Amino acid sequence: MLQAVVLMRATPEPTTVTPYPAAHSVEAFQSNLLAVRARIAVACERVGRAPTEVRLLPVSKTVPADRLRLAWEAGYRELGENKVQEAAGKAEALADLPGLRWSVIGHLQTNKAKLVARFASGFHALDSLRVAAELDRRLQAGGRALEVLVQVNTSGEASKFGLPPEAVADFVRALPAFSSLRVRGLMTLARLSDDAARVRPCFALLRDLRARLRQSAPDGVVMEELSMGMSGDFELAVEEGATMVRVGQALFGARALPDSHYWPDPAGG
Ligand SMILES: *Cc1c(COP(=O)(O)O)cnc(C)c1O
Repeated sequence: MLQAVVLMRATPEPTTVTPYPAAHSVEAFQSNLLAVRARIAVACERVGRAPTEVRLLPVSKTVPADRLRLAWEAGYRELGENKVQEAAGKAEALADLPGLRWSVIGHLQTNKAKLVARFASGFHALDSLRVAAELDRRLQAGGRALEVLVQVNTSGEASKFGLPPEAVADFVRALPAFSSLRVRGLMTLARLSDDAARVRPCFALLRDLRARLRQSAPDGVVMEELSMGMSGDFELAVEEGATMVRVGQALFGARALPDSHYWPDPAGG
């Protein structure tokens, strides 16, 4: 007890940057998974939700295939990647692992749709009909289907991909034309900020948008999933109704480069 008090006194004020230790063993991947699941459960409890309502998508960008084998051994069966080429390479390298499914969660150029259609089971960043058409064409040719989420720009930042909220209803109405796309819901990236008061409205907006779209969604379009929340903000997202959180660093360890490196500016910056 005394020791705990001394320890607390000696602990510096929490800093805004959390160092996420890197996992390099099956045990470390297991304990990180348990820790994130426990945090999801606590967030669920705060708002009276069941933890089973929230799917955890581990995001493995920048993590090499050999470490992903350890994650698989620890029970990770779904992985999200934001760059198509990187994802396709790892999917090929790990094709021997039973039950492993890949989701592409980052912006897609039309000329890369072919690659996604080949190996991915999910695509979280649909925001263009050209990409939808190209994905559908390639999927049909390969006899495959793809679960897709429509990406919405809820922060209003010009630096974010995704449709403006007011454009989503019309966009969704056009999607039943693409029969290989299983539309499942919405995805967003909130404002990157330590200030919950600026992050939370992004998540709330996505939830409200889903509620409105449910009334007008065409046949075949399911408006269930809300893919929102990452290492820095998934508890807030769960409180606001996330059905899927995309968590990278808290499971795999901190990345060397800032997020801006992985989310290039749509304006071409
Ligand atoms: C990298 C990434 C995440 C996860 O971010 P972490 O900080 O690693 O948890 C979530 N969503 C998208 C689209 C990403 O690119």
